[in-house]
Amino acid sequence: MCALPVQRIVKQVSKLAVPPHLLDYDATVAGFTWEAARPWLDGLPGGNGLNIAHEAVDRHVAHGLGAKTAIRWLGKTGERREFSFADLAQASNRFANALGQLGVLPGERVFVLMGRLPELYMAVLGALKARCVVTPLFSAFGPEPIATRAEMGDARVLVTTPELYQRKVQGLRERLPGLRHVILVGAEPVDGPGVHGWDALVDACSPDYTIAPTDPESMSLLHFTSGTTGRPKGAVHVHAAVLAHAMTGRYALDLHADDVFWCTADPGWVTGTSYGIIAPLVNGVTNVVVEAEFDAATWYGVLARERVSVWYTAPTAIRMMMKLGADAVRGHDLSRLRFMASVGEPLNPEAVVWGQQAFGMPFHDNWWQTETGGIMIANFAALDILPGSMGKPLPGITAAIARRTEGGGIALVDDPLVDGELALKAPWPSMMRGYLHEDERYRKCFVDGWYLTGDLARRDAEGYYWFVGRADDVIKSSGHLIGPFEVESALLEHPAVAEAGVIGIPDPMAGEVVKAFVALKPGFEAGEALRRELLGHARKRLGAAVAPKAIDFRTNLPKTRSGKIMRRLLRARELGLPEGDLSTLESDEQPSTETSADASTQPGTAP
Ligand code: AMP
Repeated sequence: MCALPVQRIVKQVSKLAVPPHLLDYDATVAGFTWEAARPWLDGLPGGNGLNIAHEAVDRHVAHGLGAKTAIRWLGKTGERREFSFADLAQASNRFANALGQLGVLPGERVFVLMGRLPELYMAVLGALKARCVVTPLFSAFGPEPIATRAEMGDARVLVTTPELYQRKVQGLRERLPGLRHVILVGAEPVDGPGVHGWDALVDACSPDYTIAPTDPESMSLLHFTSGTTGRPKGAVHVHAAVLAHAMTGRYALDLHADDVFWCTADPGWVTGTSYGIIAPLVNGVTNVVVEAEFDAATWYGVLARERVSVWYTAPTAIRMMMKLGADAVRGHDLSRLRFMASVGEPLNPEAVVWGQQAFGMPFHDNWWQTETGGIMIANFAALDILPGSMGKPLPGITAAIARRTEGGGIALVDDPLVDGELALKAPWPSMMRGYLHEDERYRKCFVDGWYLTGDLARRDAEGYYWFVGRADDVIKSSGHLIGPFEVESALLEHPAVAEAGVIGIPDPMAGEVVKAFVALKPGFEAGEALRRELLGHARKRLGAAVAPKAIDFRTNLPKTRSGKIMRRLLRARELGLPEGDLSTLESDEQPSTETSADASTQPGTAP
C-alpha cells in the first residue's frame, strides 16, 4: 500500500465529456438522504412494495423505453444478440411463470451455475419476479464448493448447462435431496430426476406476469463469500438493496441514460450481479455482456466496436493489459470511452497512472464487498484521484477507521494515516441482513452500530481511504475471495494428508495466489509425484479458481495450544516478514527434506 499521495490526478470537470452526476462531492454528501433518493425508484404498481426486477426491467417498459437495448450479448463464437427492455421483461416473465408451473414457492432458492449466457440474466430477473431467492455460483467452481453452497442454501432449483450439470452436479444429487428441479440451457437432453430443458419448459410459458406484492425487506439474493474459518458464509440481501444499486450506479459509475456500460465481472460473484445485471439495468443503460473469458486483444475490440462509454473492470485484468503495453490501446478507436472504474482487489498506483497514459483517463478504484451489497467507497468522476487510494465514501455511507477495545467495543481513530479496521455506520439499503443460519457470526460483525468489514485501512487528512490489508486470513486471487479453510478441508480429504495450512502469497498478476503447506501421514513420501497428485486432487474437488497453485511439504505445521494451524506464521516465514507474537505457538514446523517448487512460477487464474 502506498501511504502518501503520489502524482495526484487533478480533475477538470469542464474537460469531461459529460457533466458528472456527482459534481460537488461535499454538497451532495451533506444533502443526501436515502429517503430523498427513494423517488428514483418506482416501487411496484399500487404501492405493492419494491422488487428489484421491476425496477431493473418492467418500469422502463412502462416508461416507454421498451424498445431500448437492455442487454447486448456477445457470444464466444462471434454471435451477437440484442435484448430490449421489452424482450427482457417478457423473457423474465416466462421464467417466473415456469417457476410457478414447477410449484416453486416465494422464498425458495434458485441457484444459477453457468457462463455468461443470456438465459442467466433471464433466470435471475425471472426468479426475482417470482420472489424466489437467487444464488449465483461461479461456473469454475468444482463439485465441492457447489455442493457445500447448495446444501447450505437449500437449493430448490438449479439453472445450468448440460455440460456443467454432467461434469459437476449429477454426481452430487444424492447429497442434495432438496434440489427438485434442474433447468438445462442447451441443446443436449439429459435425463434425471426433475431435469427439464429450458426451451421446452420456459419458452412454452406465457410472456405475461404480474409481480405479486414484494416486501422490500424480503430476501432477494443469497451470495456466498469466504471467511477464515468454517464453511462459506451466505450473505443475505433484500429487495430494498436496489436503491443502493441505483445510487451507486449513478454516483460511483456515473451512469447516464445514453451510456453503453460494460462490467467485466462474472455474475458468479457479487460484482457480476450488483453491477453486471442490476445497477446498469436499474439506471436504464445498455449493458454489454461478453461470454468469452479474458483476452486483452478481444477486450480492446469490445471497447471499440461496442462503443463502450463506461467500463468497470478489475486490477488483475488491468495488469494483464498493462503487460501488452499502451500501444495495444492506441490501435483502437476508444473515443466513446469516458469513465473507467476498478474493484475487487488493491489497484496499484502504477495501474491508475497507466490508465491515464494509455487511455487518456485514469482508472477509478472503488471498494466494497459481498456483505455491503454495493459500492461503499469510490473515486468519483469529478474528484481528484490520489493513485493507490480507494477514494471517499458514497453519499449516504459513513465510513470510519476503528480499533477494537478490550471491553469488546470499538474506538474510532481520528488521526489521519493511522491503521485500523474499516468500519461502516449501519444500516444502508444494500447492507446484508444476515448470514444464513449463522446469527452469531452475523452479530459479531456489528459493534456499537458499526459494521466492521474485516479490512484494514487508513484515512488521510483529505478524507481519502487507503487499503492496508485484510484483518483475517482470506485470500484474494484474481479478484476472487478464497477461504483457506475450504482449501485445507479439500486437501485433508486426500489419504496422504495429515495437516494442511493454506495462505495467499503475492503474485504480480493475480494479486495473490493460493499456496498450501502440507504435513503427510506416516508411510507417505514427500516428492514431486505426490505434489502433482495433491494439486490435481484439489483442482478436481475445488475447481481451478480456488485450488492451490503450489504446495510445500512440512513434517509438522506451526500450531497454537488449541491445535489451530498458525497461517499467519506460515505466511510471515514464507515472505520473510517479522514473525510477531509467538506466545500462543505450541508446536513448530519443521521443513521436510523434500525441496519445494517455486510458487511464483505458477500462473494465476484469469480474472
Ligand atoms: P468480495 O466480498 O468477494 O467482493 O471481496 C471483498 C474484499 O475484496 C474486500 O473486503 C477487500 O478485502 C477486497 N477489495 C475489494 N475492493 C477492493 C479495493 N478497491 N482495494 C482493495 N481491496 C479490495
